[in-house]
Amino acid sequence: MENALTFCQMPLDRASTLRKDKTWLQAKLQSDSSHFYFYWCGRFLYFEQELFVFTQAEHNNVLGESFNTPLISLVIEQSSVSFLGTKHEQAYFVCSLAFNDDAEVEQWLLTLGNSALKFLDFIRSLTLLKPKVAATLSYAKALIHWQQSTLFCGCCGNKTQPLEGGHRLICTDDDCQKEHFPRTDPAVIMLVEYKPKTGPAVCLLAEHHRTPEKVFSTLAGFVDPGESLQEAVTREVLEEAGINVTNVSFIDSQPWPFPNSLMIGFIAEADSMTLCLEDEELRSADWFSAEQLLTFADWGAENDLPKLPRKESIARLLIDSWCKKQLETN
Ligand SMILES: [Zn+2]
Repeated sequence: MENALTFCQMPLDRASTLRKDKTWLQAKLQSDSSHFYFYWCGRFLYFEQELFVFTQAEHNNVLGESFNTPLISLVIEQSSVSFLGTKHEQAYFVCSLAFNDDAEVEQWLLTLGNSALKFLDFIRSLTLLKPKVAATLSYAKALIHWQQSTLFCGCCGNKTQPLEGGHRLICTDDDCQKEHFPRTDPAVIMLVEYKPKTGPAVCLLAEHHRTPEKVFSTLAGFVDPGESLQEAVTREVLEEAGINVTNVSFIDSQPWPFPNSLMIGFIAEADSMTLCLEDEELRSADWFSAEQLLTFADWGAENDLPKLPRKESIARLLIDSWCKKQLETN
């Protein structure tokens, strides 16, 4: 099923069998047709407003500019390179400069001699990216986050080293050799609705402490060990808002690489409107009809109106699709 959500339109074949072949991977690393992205501290390298994609070919970029190929190749050799996948037999890699400090990265950019090259924050520059590229970078960011948080073996504390283009890490201790695989944290996110006997249905939205004031979003939370997704929805709504829910139904899912979550979206039905809020999580919460939500502003709007979550988020999809359904049926 085609998923129009941001980060869900992956164009690459992850080539999970081919990447186990060291010879194949090495040939792709050296191939003129391979593409390289550059990542550093939550940011990707851009040339002006375009994502910078490097290839070893003579015309070494897709932007019509000339760059210092030997210098970029040297950085690729010295950085932590992960294989992302293939498209039309061309391989895509991401180079993480995680082990370089600010001064080293600035010096590298200076040496490249092109002041239009700069690292831009991933989420803030999302609007510059096509959906398929955003999906690829989201995957790259989550993979690198896992690698950087698994530099040492969780069993014995010795260093790990990458295998399969960065998709597996193995403990370097001969007695341990524990293998580590990429982690994704499942989180449930749910639109809670209440259907009164008369009058329009309403949905529960909250101002979270982690988002700017006056942004009203759905409830969400991480899945606990030993818990089903439906149980997580029920528990989170009860903990955060003091509401019992039934009829928990799956709507959609979205990878959310901040840092490495998988958001699993639901709709659930409340048995009452009496709220008892968890102050640590929520600044405020209230029930809103679809008509009321039509008056809300977009995320980032510079006015005093209440605002909806980011357009890229599954929270927004849950709210928008619920609103659409209410307005159609009323
Ligand atoms: Zn170990």
